[in-house]
Amino acid sequence: MRLVFLGPPGAGKGTQANLLSQRRGIAHISTGEILREAAESGSELGNQAKDFMDRGDLVPDELVDRIVAERLAEADCRSGFVLDGYPRTVAQARALDGYLTEIGRPLTAVLGFEVHQGEVTSRLLRRGRADDNKNTIRRRLRVYDEQTRELLDHYETSGLLKRISAVGAIDQVAARVEAALA
Ligand code: AMP
Repeated sequence: MRLVFLGPPGAGKGTQANLLSQRRGIAHISTGEILREAAESGSELGNQAKDFMDRGDLVPDELVDRIVAERLAEADCRSGFVLDGYPRTVAQARALDGYLTEIGRPLTAVLGFEVHQGEVTSRLLRRGRADDNKNTIRRRLRVYDEQTRELLDHYETSGLLKRISAVGAIDQVAARVEAALA
């Protein structure tokens, strides 16, 4: 099972990707997490990414595309994976599609997590990560609308998209994830 979880920040993709990866024994790949760890460790990659992340902007495509291709080549991804927070632009989606086609392992499905903006803002403020302040949240939601939302059409056209409601308790949403994948 090779999946992409798509949706605005605060939709609960990370929580659901984590749970699903445990239930199915597949790899959970969060580009946000990889970038945050890199930024904390002060690696060259982290330093390149940090300013973009602090502003709530997207890190350049080439950087994330490379991270993901390297991560997908690791052994634990052979049993499947769920990508959480990648792709976020049409260019990233094309890079991913190209890479997976090249290795002969195309995506199984894309789950679109649907939730309205008022709900995600209050979720993010409750979560309280370093980049969860009002200005950055506003910026990240805008970036989602301007650059990521169009991926829903991209994956709808390729017939991979399944939309689910991300409103409700964690186990309710988890049940919808399972139903969509059944
Ligand atoms: P996330 O944890 O997915 O909300 O990501 C946190 C931050 O990491 C984002 O606001 C971006 O700055 C950066 N980031 C994560 N994934 C990507 C991606 N696929 N493309 C560009 N930037 C990303």
